[in-house]
Amino acid sequence: GEEFAGKRVTVAGLGVSGIPAARVLRSLGARVTVVNDGDDERARRQAAELEELGAAVRLGDGATLPEGTELVVTTPGWRPDKPLFAAAAAAGVPVWGDVELAWRLRGPGAAPWLAVTGTNGKTTTVRMLASVLEAAGLRTAAVGNIGVSLLDAVLGGEPYDVLAVELSSYQLHWSSSVRPHSAAVLNLAPDHLDWHGSMEAYAADKGRIYEGNQVACVYNTADPLTEELVRRADVVEGCRAIGFTLGTPAPSQLGVVDGVLVDRAFVPDRRRQAQELAEVADVDPPAPHNIANALAAAALARAFGVEPGAVRDGLRAFRPDPHRIEHVADVGEVAYVDDSKATNTHAAEASLKAYDPVVWIAGGLAKGAVFDELVAGAAKRLRAAVLIGADRWLIREALARHAPDVPVVDLDRTDTGAMAAAVGEAARLARPGDTVLLAPACASMDMFTDYHARGEAFAAAVRDLAADRPAAR
Ligand code: ADP
Repeated sequence: GEEFAGKRVTVAGLGVSGIPAARVLRSLGARVTVVNDGDDERARRQAAELEELGAAVRLGDGATLPEGTELVVTTPGWRPDKPLFAAAAAAGVPVWGDVELAWRLRGPGAAPWLAVTGTNGKTTTVRMLASVLEAAGLRTAAVGNIGVSLLDAVLGGEPYDVLAVELSSYQLHWSSSVRPHSAAVLNLAPDHLDWHGSMEAYAADKGRIYEGNQVACVYNTADPLTEELVRRADVVEGCRAIGFTLGTPAPSQLGVVDGVLVDRAFVPDRRRQAQELAEVADVDPPAPHNIANALAAAALARAFGVEPGAVRDGLRAFRPDPHRIEHVADVGEVAYVDDSKATNTHAAEASLKAYDPVVWIAGGLAKGAVFDELVAGAAKRLRAAVLIGADRWLIREALARHAPDVPVVDLDRTDTGAMAAAVGEAARLARPGDTVLLAPACASMDMFTDYHARGEAFAAAVRDLAADRPAAR
């Protein structure tokens, strides 16, 4: 970290990653200026705290690059088409994300990274992987959007043998020198296209996770684009492409045979049959998309040398996080399931597939998504749909095109109370044996602070329903 002393660093954005980055850079002696678009009360409070540490803070102007900037460290949320980045490029100033900063600050002999990205299943896979590594007796942490922050893991002084790292497409966009031990791209479906500009650019950013891999690049055989990204990557000699499949695995793949997760990639003798790892029933929940997550986690662990028994123990010990296909309650023979974390169409598709018939609660911020495929695929299983949120009309129109017979209730509301109303409508439409599924296929920020708050609102409304209390309107 010595090279940061006296360096003029501009941190782009306050927020969950900007503030820790500014703190760390100050502690290394950098001359830090934080620029932020917003100028509200919260930003002023955060600014005051950073100013106490000797950082300069410029609120209400995130567009212009401060004079003399030698390095920009950006929060992942900042879109690459912002004028500040054009100014940095014109001035030949490098731009790093928080992940790049963390990578550069790793000390000698630091723990290697097993990295995971993908449109859906990142958090789940990283937590499964950490559970498996722990079962193998390794000192590890699940690092990324949950648990320990990357900067803390790298600088916190805690000794780790290996880190299970979740990387978003935003973070990968702003990373150039990160070199994981091994990495996986779980799947690729259109998401965040408004940020990246195109599917092409989104995929290319995801593909950066394979750059410089040492042992294994793990891809999804059901998603040929992930394999294509492996082919395009520049890796260390001897690094292998390892596929995972829900079917019978070919050599150099992990897969499923008769309800058993098997490994045909990391067997000591290539001619030997597959190595058994765990039962499908060991994975919670044992839904197909989640078996895929488990196979990816197993592949990365095996690449790191973890024994089959530890893979099984770690998968058995794993429990999913809230709001990910979480069964909330049964009320009047109707199941209520919270998949608030289904913030895009690809995720919603995975959970909609698991229920039939289903009353679907959806809507929110579409982020440039198109809903035709999702709706057409689910049409036969839909009992009804209840729509909320800012971009609900996009889903309403897709339903009109592909599921004209499905009853649709458009609540025309974006207030937080709309969720209770939606649950009430869904309860009215559901018949015994149905499932009411919150799988919004959209981001939550039009109505809630995040997907967590959205899921809590759903669960609270379901509990009110179970207690036969009227929904708050
Ligand atoms: P991420 O961290 O990528 O957002 P999560 O593990 O939090 O992923 O899961 C997000 C949502 O995606 C969940 O609600 C789940 O229904 C769905 N999901 C999880 N794994 C997969 C997968 N492999 N393929 C498709 N959808 C998935």
